[in-house]
Amino acid sequence: MFEKILIANRGEIALRVHRACKEMGIHTVAIHSEADRNAMHVRLADESVCVGPAPSPKSYLNIPAIITAAKITGAQAIHPGYGFLSENAKFAEIVEKSGITFIGPRPEHIRMMGDKITAKDAIQTAGIPVVPGSDGEVATFEQAKADAKRIGYPVLMKATAGGGGRGMKVAHSPEELELAFMSARTEAKTAFGNEAVYMEKYLQKPRHIEIQVVADSHGNVIHLGERDCSLQRRHQKVFEEAPSPVIDDAARAAIGKTVTAAIKKLGYLGVGTIEFLYENGEFYFIEMNTRLQVEHPVTEMITGVDLVQEQIRIAAGEKLSLTQKDVQFKGHAIECRINAENPETFTPSPGLIQEFHAPGGLGVRLDSAAYSGYRVPPHYDSLIGKLIVYAPTRAEALARLRRALDETVVAGVDTTLPLHRRLASNADVAKGDYDIHWLEKFLGMKK
Ligand code: ADP
Repeated sequence: MFEKILIANRGEIALRVHRACKEMGIHTVAIHSEADRNAMHVRLADESVCVGPAPSPKSYLNIPAIITAAKITGAQAIHPGYGFLSENAKFAEIVEKSGITFIGPRPEHIRMMGDKITAKDAIQTAGIPVVPGSDGEVATFEQAKADAKRIGYPVLMKATAGGGGRGMKVAHSPEELELAFMSARTEAKTAFGNEAVYMEKYLQKPRHIEIQVVADSHGNVIHLGERDCSLQRRHQKVFEEAPSPVIDDAARAAIGKTVTAAIKKLGYLGVGTIEFLYENGEFYFIEMNTRLQVEHPVTEMITGVDLVQEQIRIAAGEKLSLTQKDVQFKGHAIECRINAENPETFTPSPGLIQEFHAPGGLGVRLDSAAYSGYRVPPHYDSLIGKLIVYAPTRAEALARLRRALDETVVAGVDTTLPLHRRLASNADVAKGDYDIHWLEKFLGMKK
């Protein structure tokens, strides 16, 4: 087992990885930018190295500085967290070439799944159903017209290099197609430096259901059930839960079997998430994430599996600590993403947190790097914490969530806490009756 791990991230996820390491008796090295000198991940780590100025390209994305930090501290492995370099195949290669273990999948799988067209191809070949769509890239408007006619409106243009919900445009009719095609390409070029787009049938009332998989280097693959992340704004998850209110044991076992067989066929290593849209009882693959997800805690709560510790053991060459038969789903967990944002306009609200009070009690988990007196820097994403509740049933989990949200105090910056309070006491949410478009309608937003 590793004696020292460098955590190439910041915020709550750096803390999450640190906690897993400490419980395994592993020393931690934090990296940080000049803006994060007083950050909690730096305070808690055994050692820390400043890797550059505030802007992330100069610090958290600065590969030479991060490799040097690992070398000078003698870290044997690097955990990338999520975001930043976590899905950068080149980084994974450089880490391995430097004689350090990358805690994550093999570079070839990161690369395969990072391009949504090759991902869809590979996944379909491995036996997983996908959203009906174009055969690879849609390079011209003429082709877009022909594809849309074949697939049937409404259609969705999506960026091949996509992520974070960017580069997606809907066309409800042939009249809307040209603008959707052109603007998706322009947005993709600006956001990812790659204008390639493809087309999918735009599903009208799907839920977002994703399956967590874990694979070791000995050929063992298990799934840890689903997460329902249907409450989204601008294709970004806001509120997640496990299990899904619409998936029963038989459906879970069936999709779990399909997914684990495919992952085995692909020879995938580490943790990963297969994302689906789920409509009328059918699963349609949309993408695979080759990293730990923000919403992984809800799976941990209902299975009792520490996903980060599992990642570390897998990277060290050990076998999975459990088999599929050992996986038991128990109770219900819900996660709310607390962002430093205005709860109505969603504009970021960096600044000083004057007062911070964490909720507590049975079944309450707060993954956060914030504290009273912490200044939320303007340079990074606005997630300041994740409130996770766990209870025997969904109704009890919602009651616990309302109670925990009432206890939580974050003063000095705007947060999305008021939105979560509204959601936790909403009748549709209580019934589990919503699709991926519900939240935007609830917020009164235009599509
Ligand atoms: P990204 O990588 O940008 O997050 P995804 O492919 O994971 O893109 O899609 C993000 C979200 O966009 C999905 O959870 C869903 O809400 C919406 N979406 C994606 N594909 C479709 C589709 N074919 N029909 C309807 N909504 C979709």
